[in-house]
Amino acid sequence: MKIAIIGAGLAGLACARALAASGHQVRLFDKGRAAGGRLATRRLEHDGQTIRFDHGAQYLRVRHAGFGRLLAEQGCQPWPRSEDGEDGPRLVPVPAMSALPRALAQGLDLTTGVHVAALRRQEEGWMLGHVPAAVVKGPIAPPGLEPVWEGPFDAVALTAPAPQSAALLAVPAPDLAEALEVVEYAPCWSWMAAFAEPLPLPDTLRPDLGPIGWAARNNAKPGREGPEAWVVQTAPQWSREHLESSPEQVSAALRAVLRAPEPLVQAAHRWRFSLVERALGRPCLWDAGLKLGVAGDFCLAGRAESAFLSGEALAQAMRS
Ligand SMILES: Cc1cc2nc3c(=O)[nH]c(=O)nc-3n(C[C@H](O)[C@H](O)[C@H](O)COP(=O)(O)OP(=O)(O)OC[C@H]3O[C@@H](n4cnc5c(N)ncnc54)[C@H](O)[C@@H]3O)c2cc1C
Repeated sequence: MKIAIIGAGLAGLACARALAASGHQVRLFDKGRAAGGRLATRRLEHDGQTIRFDHGAQYLRVRHAGFGRLLAEQGCQPWPRSEDGEDGPRLVPVPAMSALPRALAQGLDLTTGVHVAALRRQEEGWMLGHVPAAVVKGPIAPPGLEPVWEGPFDAVALTAPAPQSAALLAVPAPDLAEALEVVEYAPCWSWMAAFAEPLPLPDTLRPDLGPIGWAARNNAKPGREGPEAWVVQTAPQWSREHLESSPEQVSAALRAVLRAPEPLVQAAHRWRFSLVERALGRPCLWDAGLKLGVAGDFCLAGRAESAFLSGEALAQAMRS
């Protein structure tokens, strides 16, 4: 089959690799600059030096052997100092979170920087319309942009976060779109800041109250280099209340809470669909009649391993 996969996060990559391994012709499309989605690393420049921050997923935990094998093959390393180690070790790709999706995308046919804005079924198969990601400001492309059409494809897998996949499915597959309505996410702001001196804090913080949900000394992770660099992620309630704040307002508020000095360099990133609060409760959706499928972390639970398992489950459903 000729298959299009929308989204090259872990779910899309897992699905693509499994389908390509069984001889299908797979094309991936992603609006980001590279594969990875929420397995992300931001680079900030200071004084001729590039400082890297894992500003999406912080670490990976393994519950299923297949995911464990993948992380071992990819050289992921344990990140010690686990204050909550009952769940097994925290693993991180080296030298940055984005190294994992980058490695998984190798050899796959991936088009980046394109926002898929329309999906249309014709007699010959599925057509997929995309616009340059740079012209789309929100999570959903506004109507009226003339897309570039690709296809026909025999089947399409959608692995964007549920609301974005639902928007694409609304016309060609309203039942699938409706099934995704149960999924709920919390948003999250990630503040990235580098400092001239180490902050007087432990390597990770998970305060129970207030704006901060999690904070980590990024340069303490294995294989990281560079100056004192922090990633601070906001708690769900605070994130909802400050969803429309500016990056500058968020940065100032978090800096004040940490009583941090003036950073060498800083940035804030808003994740509208960050952590899944209510999942679908099924590994994936596959409509064999329409040849349309849906996968993503939101099918099972809000963590990277669930995205991987969901992508693999969809590939299996598509092959059978
Ligand atoms: C702040 C934060 C902290 C986290 N911490 C952890 C953690 O510590 N451990 C853990 O296991 N998990 C963590 N997670 C969750 C983890 O990152 C996700 O579960 C996982 O990465 C989801 O993978 P996915 O492939 O389902 O979705 P995504 O990674 O979101 O991939 C979807 C892809 O679809 C693309 N896309 C969307 N719409 C379109 C469109 N219209 N056209 C083209 N492309 C499109 C996006 O660009 C994206 O690349 C965290 C997430 C966030 C945001």
